[in-house]
Amino acid sequence: MAMDDAPKPHFVLVPLMAQGHMIPMADFALLLVSRGSRVSLITTPVNARRLRAVANRGGDNLRLVELSMPCAEFGLPEGCENVDLVRQPELFIPFFNCIRRLEDQLNRYLREQPPAPTCIIADQCMPWTMEVANDLGIPRFVFHCPSCFYLLCTLRIAEHELYEKVSDPCEAFFVPGLPQLPQRIEVNKLKAQRFLDVPDLDLLRHVQEADATADGIVLNTCYEFEPWCVDDYRGALGKEVWPVGPVSLIHKDTGGKVVRGDGSAGVDHSGVSQWLDGREPGSVLFISFGSIARTLFRQQVEIGNALEATGRPFLWAMKEAEKGDLVEEWLAEFEERNRGNGIIVKGWVPQVLILTHPAVGCFMTHCGWNSTLEAVAAGVPMVTWPHFADQFLNEKLVVDILRTGVSVGVKAPFFYMAAGDDALVKSEAVERAVESIMGGVEGEKIRRRARKFAEKASKVMEEGGSSKDNLDRMIDYTINLATGNYKANGRATALC
Ligand code: UDP
Repeated sequence: MAMDDAPKPHFVLVPLMAQGHMIPMADFALLLVSRGSRVSLITTPVNARRLRAVANRGGDNLRLVELSMPCAEFGLPEGCENVDLVRQPELFIPFFNCIRRLEDQLNRYLREQPPAPTCIIADQCMPWTMEVANDLGIPRFVFHCPSCFYLLCTLRIAEHELYEKVSDPCEAFFVPGLPQLPQRIEVNKLKAQRFLDVPDLDLLRHVQEADATADGIVLNTCYEFEPWCVDDYRGALGKEVWPVGPVSLIHKDTGGKVVRGDGSAGVDHSGVSQWLDGREPGSVLFISFGSIARTLFRQQVEIGNALEATGRPFLWAMKEAEKGDLVEEWLAEFEERNRGNGIIVKGWVPQVLILTHPAVGCFMTHCGWNSTLEAVAAGVPMVTWPHFADQFLNEKLVVDILRTGVSVGVKAPFFYMAAGDDALVKSEAVERAVESIMGGVEGEKIRRRARKFAEKASKVMEEGGSSKDNLDRMIDYTINLATGNYKANGRATALC
């Protein structure tokens, strides 16, 4: 049988509609297609516009499926189909309730549209896919977006019932049950929140049940970055765990790196690229806090003062929180004073393109896992500035375990505009953290360690690389389920 005629698995990928979840899932879709699988990537019309350009890179084997979210029924503004469009915290639960409406549509779609699905791979935040997979009698894997370190730490905290036993969210404790590390990992409940630990406990319970009953776990990391975490996590779950990342490495050319994330934003990357081309290798500080976090004006001023104090070239991807004459005036004067030495880009930037440019020497990041992983893979050391969710534990991984970053010293989570003064970081602390990476003897040690990780990353997707092998193993496992060689929770499945 010719390679093209061989039965192919048809993976149905269901990302949460949030940039930090859709982007890695779209990259993962391309990886699956590159290994000869068919993929249906499930989304909604607003998100399809963002994903179209990157999905087109998968050719005929990657289908973008648009289901509809009845936003108005849940009190959401029309078209509020992505977490970055939910601008009021009280709309979060309605957003997740609205997403649940995709369940029947997906079930119907998969029954009616050939080819038959072989396996669903869904984001952890889409627990209702468990019901769809059960109803269709096909296996289901969970795709986790956070680091394995975060997953292991929160699992250990839950196993030791510390989420219940520790009542004060600010009380410090050590994460139990980790192997011997140079230093113990100290957290509090605010800095080690479980994913989707929202007031709606039904949602958390649903997520936990869907995790527990999954037929396997896919991780966007690579074994080399978190070896003992992957081993311990696999051991604790007692099921298949496949680290297949960093999935962003699927994009080798500028074209892929530019459309990644928001193909509809019409990102003009040439200005950014040209500016970077004119800078010395390793000289530029890149600042970006991901797709959701917003920076308050008074915090922007502190960052701006620190940048001017260091005098180092900078590229600042700014997602501002507040508007107004004062903000505009400050920004205009700041840009004028720093013309030639730094640029500010408002809106979406091609982050992977920037991180992989030789001029970039340091990344000031909010420690979202994708950003963290992209920086580790590119060999760029980090100034860590976590805001919420898994970001504080990702910071610990970077600063205490990988030792490729320096903390800016955030004391409390900062979600949307709900920042108290303890969440504000002063310019002196920002300057200190930047200098301890970009200058000095200690900085050189950090930079050297960071470069070593890029060397490791460059091999993981190649022939014999750990992530490539894990991906192939995951596909083989699925094919074996489909041909009846294995049993997934007692179910059978199909190839197309
Ligand atoms: N990203 C980007 N341009 C931007 C902002 C973000 O390309 O202007 C990408 C970034 O490369 C990463 C993702 O969006 O892949 C953000 O995910 P992450 O987990 O870092 O943070 P989140 O946005 O979920 O807080």
